[in-house]
Amino acid sequence: MKTALITGAARGIGLATAHRFLADGWQVAMLDRDEPELMQAAKGLENAAPILADVSIPDQVTTAITDTLSRFGTIDALINNAGVADFGPIEDTTFPRWRRVMETNLDGIFLMTQAATPALKASRGAIVNIASISGLRASTLRVAYGTSKAAVIQLTQQQAVELGEYGIRANSVCPGPVRTKLAMAVHSPAIIAAYHDAIPLNRYGAESEIAEVIHFLCSPRASYVTGQNIAVDGGFEATGIGLPALRS
Ligand code: NAD
Repeated sequence: MKTALITGAARGIGLATAHRFLADGWQVAMLDRDEPELMQAAKGLENAAPILADVSIPDQVTTAITDTLSRFGTIDALINNAGVADFGPIEDTTFPRWRRVMETNLDGIFLMTQAATPALKASRGAIVNIASISGLRASTLRVAYGTSKAAVIQLTQQQAVELGEYGIRANSVCPGPVRTKLAMAVHSPAIIAAYHDAIPLNRYGAESEIAEVIHFLCSPRASYVTGQNIAVDGGFEATGIGLPALRS
């Protein structure tokens, strides 16, 4: 049986991804730092194990990899999904707010991937890093979040280029807006309306629609795909101006 280690798996996109891999017969190590939500999410799931850890704390990352290997023996896919959002103007983004975003969204992916690399070499495994459309297009209020996600896309390419010779593939996924706890904390009614205006499919995405692409990228069906970024965004990245005018 193959094993996927998914960070931020207690809810939202990470939990939907855990369900997708389990449905395909994988074992899943569900990593999160929110203990009550993690325990609730993993309860009753066969072939899944909760791994309590914070991806931004090096010691906890090392222990999480050891725990995953002692429970399942292998890591065939690492899905770096844990993320935090904090929207604010440049002048209000204090250094602690900036660091809070960077330490999970960027440092966390660096640390998790570095610690998992020996296991991924052994399995010739796959990495999928979750970035965002905010890493593809700049917008207001996203100085920390958008910058962290743009860096994730570059980090993915670094990983793909360097680890390719070990048979490890690395790709990133940029979700468009999905109604998770993370998004609803920062998407005001005005932001929700603006997304509808800017998205050709004229709606938010579902967690399962993101999970499907993550699962594909970790499967043998994507065996020659590496160093790529795939936007799962209802067409957001493809558009320029004019959609609302066209609709009305
Ligand atoms: P969510 O808040 O529902 O879930 C995120 C999970 O990550 C939570 O369970 C949280 O406890 C965990 N987490 C956060 N920091 C952590 C840390 N340091 N260590 C371990 N666990 C940690 O969010 P979501 O919307 O499902 O987001 C998942 C990913 O998708 C994030 O990287 C996010 O930036 C990205 N994303 C989301 C959207 C969206 O609209 N929801 C859009 C683009 C990208």
